Amino acid sequence: MDLFTSYVEAIETGAQRIYDPDAQEVHTGIVSRAAREVITGLGTPDLWCTEHGSHIGRTLVESRIVLAWMSTQDEEIYRKYKAYGAGKAKLNSLIAREIPPEWLLNGASDAIDEMSRLSHNDDLLDYVSVDLGSTFSGKTLRTMADEAGLLDLYRHAFQLQSGFTHSEWWAVEMECMERCRNVLHRGHLIPSLDLAYGGVVTVGRAWVIALHGLIRASLEILDTDEEVVREAFAWLLPSHTTPDPPPDMSTSVGDQR
Ligand SMILES: [Zn+2]
Repeated sequence: MDLFTSYVEAIETGAQRIYDPDAQEVHTGIVSRAAREVITGLGTPDLWCTEHGSHIGRTLVESRIVLAWMSTQDEEIYRKYKAYGAGKAKLNSLIAREIPPEWLLNGASDAIDEMSRLSHNDDLLDYVSVDLGSTFSGKTLRTMADEAGLLDLYRHAFQLQSGFTHSEWWAVEMECMERCRNVLHRGHLIPSLDLAYGGVVTVGRAWVIALHGLIRASLEILDTDEEVVREAFAWLLPSHTTPDPPPDMSTSVGDQR
C-alpha cells in the first residue's frame, strides 16, 4: 500500500497533461489493477504459493510487458487500448441483454447498465466498434514481450504461471494429483485431498519487488520528474541519503513454489 501510495503521490505531484490524459490514465489504471491484486494477496497467506497465487504474478508480468510495449508505439496506442476495452464492455452488455429480463435478479440489470455505460457508446449513435481480437494490439503477449525486450521475463515468469491458470497437465499433476495406493488400480492418478497451505514468504516478497519494478518502469515511461519521484519514495531509502536502484523484476517472479 505504501508503494502504491507513493506512486500516486509522484504522479499527482508531477506535471500533468490535462488535455492529453490517456497515457497517464492507462498507466495508473494498469498499475492500480496490479497493486490492488498484490495488496489483497499479501493479506491472504494461503495465496503465497504458485498454485493459488499464480494469477497475481501473472498480472504483474503482463502489466509490465504491456506498458513496456506500449511505450515503443505511437501515443495513439493508449487511446486504442481504451477503445478495445470499451468495445469489450459493449460486447459484454450485448451478450448480457440476451438474458430474459425475468431471469435478472439481485441488481443484474443495473450491472448490465453499468457495463453499457463503460462502453462509452452513445444511446442514439452506435459508434463503438467491437474488436474480437484476443488482445488490444492484435499481437500475442509473447510477441509484445519480444518486441519490448522482455522475452526472458515472459519465458521465465509468465509462461510458468499461465500453466496454472490454464490447468496445463504438468501443473495439475504436480499440485492436484497423487498416485492411488490401491495396487489393483495399476498406479493411476487420483485427485489429492491434501490442500497445500501457501505461506511461502519469498513468493509474497517477489510480488512486492515486482510491483516496485512495475511502478518504477511506469514512472520512467511517463517521464515523471525525477525529483518528485525521489521525494515520494524517500521513505524507501535506509538513511534517506543513498538512493538504491530499484530491484530488477526480471529475476524475482516465478520459479518459486
Ligand atoms: Zn485407484
